[in-house]
Amino acid sequence: MKKMPMVLIVEDEPAIAELIAVNLRHNGFQPVWAEDGVSAQRELDAVLPDVILLDWMLPGASGLSLARKWRADSRTKGVPILMLTARGDEPDKVAGLDAGADDYITKPFSTQELLARIRAVLRRRAPEQVQDKVSMGELMLDAAAHRVSWQGDLLKIGPTEFKLLNYLMKHPERVHSRAQLLDKVWGDHVFIEERTVDVHVKRLRESLGVAGALIETVRGAGYRFSAQALG
Ligand code: CA
Repeated sequence: MKKMPMVLIVEDEPAIAELIAVNLRHNGFQPVWAEDGVSAQRELDAVLPDVILLDWMLPGASGLSLARKWRADSRTKGVPILMLTARGDEPDKVAGLDAGADDYITKPFSTQELLARIRAVLRRRAPEQVQDKVSMGELMLDAAAHRVSWQGDLLKIGPTEFKLLNYLMKHPERVHSRAQLLDKVWGDHVFIEERTVDVHVKRLRESLGVAGALIETVRGAGYRFSAQALG
């Protein structure tokens, strides 16, 4: 049976939270409600949800600062964030996306619109969530435990390199351009230079040692993760 996606609702108004929760439950999701940043953090520490619905205006820490915090945390950075905002003006939306939100939805919104947005962010993240463990030869990556090992020995690896390796290992034997890697690993709304990819690939190879040879540079095209590279 397919697991019901868990949605953490961070919303201080009980009536709105309840309405969202009821609609989500009726549509095959498992909602969890937190009324502020502190209780949301408690929920996140316990279980990682599949999506976070984050209200902009909250007592205490604002939705914006929470989004920024969760994006910077290696444990929560992969969880899609959908911001709920009562305001419709452009600077706020841009600020939300800059803070790391995947999408935003302006109140009042229809249930259908909310569900469509949630499904869209889940679909975008889906390749990374389908499989927790992946291996090639003696290189193993466990996404749930956030571990990489080579010949049974744990490797020390940075958070971005981990995400990059996770993506490459799950999409092996094909060439990925730098732009594609930026899109898939760093996300749609990130504006960074393509040579940043080269920097992280270099660091990743260094972290992998001998197994670094699995990542091939394809001249003029990008990178390929290939079993054949080890020979
Ligand atoms: Ca609010």
